[in-house]
Amino acid sequence: MPMPHTVPLHADETALSFAARVAFANKLPSLSEFLKDFDLAISDVVCGSTAALARLAELGDVESQLLVARAFCYSGDSHRILGFQIDKQNLLVGYNRVCPACLRADMAGTLTEQTVSMAYGRILWSFASARVCPVHNLLLVAPPEENVRYEFMRSWEPWLIEIEDGDLDRPVPGHASFEHYLSTRLAGGAPGGWAANLSIGAAGVASEMLGASLVFGKGAALRELSAYELAVATDAGFALLNKGPDALLTFFQSLRAETGSPQDRPSARYGRIHDWMRRGAGAGLGFGHLRDILRQHILETWPLGEGELALDYPLPARRLHSIRTAALAHDLHPKRLRRLLRDAGIVDEPDTPDYDVLFSAPETETLLDQASGAVSYVAAQRRLGMTRTQMERLIAEGVLTPGEGGDTARPRFTEATIRKWSNFFEAFPETSRHCGKLSISETSSSLGVSTAAILRLIVEGRLRDVERNAVLIVIEN
Ligand SMILES: [Zn+2]
Repeated sequence: MPMPHTVPLHADETALSFAARVAFANKLPSLSEFLKDFDLAISDVVCGSTAALARLAELGDVESQLLVARAFCYSGDSHRILGFQIDKQNLLVGYNRVCPACLRADMAGTLTEQTVSMAYGRILWSFASARVCPVHNLLLVAPPEENVRYEFMRSWEPWLIEIEDGDLDRPVPGHASFEHYLSTRLAGGAPGGWAANLSIGAAGVASEMLGASLVFGKGAALRELSAYELAVATDAGFALLNKGPDALLTFFQSLRAETGSPQDRPSARYGRIHDWMRRGAGAGLGFGHLRDILRQHILETWPLGEGELALDYPLPARRLHSIRTAALAHDLHPKRLRRLLRDAGIVDEPDTPDYDVLFSAPETETLLDQASGAVSYVAAQRRLGMTRTQMERLIAEGVLTPGEGGDTARPRFTEATIRKWSNFFEAFPETSRHCGKLSISETSSSLGVSTAAILRLIVEGRLRDVERNAVLIVIEN
């Protein structure tokens, strides 16, 4: 049998609020007293016990399944309400935050027992990331005395004068965009935008994280922000989130491009949002689509080496080099490397720092190997068939140019340089004996002309009948 006085159950009302209002309408001192009279407990309502809710529905004269749908039915680490599965940490069940203007509207401008029992708790107010009323743009406020959990009427009845007078009103700039989205979803609607790719709980948390970074800087910690600041942040964060991948990529790029000390790794550039996705709550299943975007951005914009992490993905092979990483990997001076890359038409960013000038690693591998002098002094000597003294003389006279790698004492040569000279020598017909011809060394010493000068004459085609010896090419002594 129903209680003598009943109240209407609203589509967006929590079962806890409804139970508290039935108790209040029947002049009972509290929700727990009311439930106790019928051998029920608040925890039964909070956990969504079907039997307890059925009894309560009977007492309040409403359909049982309507009340069950509005209870935060608890199982494992999540709650189920209105058909949505919400992680426990995304809800503030029993905290009784309210919008003062909504309560005023419920009470229709007068404070009587009858009108006060009409003031009800909205399901949306229990979402941790919801901080603004989507109808009135006021900050949701917690009861000034927060020790009364679950008891909706007892939490607010002592403060109704302040509510009526607007003392607790705190307008929030912005559009309450997340709360509008949440309200539409809870009402069974399908709001447009990219946030639909996330659960309603994850959309709220992601909006907070993005917004805190967007509004208060990438180092901002959520726990250091007030409810008001978080409300402002969440609004901005949701607007960004809902625009989707392109806007998010632009945002991540802006974080990446902020000036800072040279960094070879992403964590410092993206700030807290990176750590959150790497090892915080953002590493959870619900944020997979958001992580995909940041990971892709990192893969496309960071010169990570084999085995380094793009968020949670270890690179199987390097895709990108910066001038800084290539200089280190190939033992090249950054300035010379930059000139080389510019001459090859690969980079042209004179004012960008070394660590931010990026280029494809696979496509420049050959160039870098050659520039760094892949051919050692000894190997070059063997392939050209020269003595050390001859090599030194040719280097000193500028005929043979060492590569960018190595040092003065032990220069290295590019593959291209060595191949050019060995091809040149091999083009001459081979001879097994001198046949009265002179070697370059003999010519040099008998005429007092430098080896390089003779070589130049050969290169210019001004010496005819040049042959090469089978073992030691023309310039053997
Ligand atoms: Zn409101």
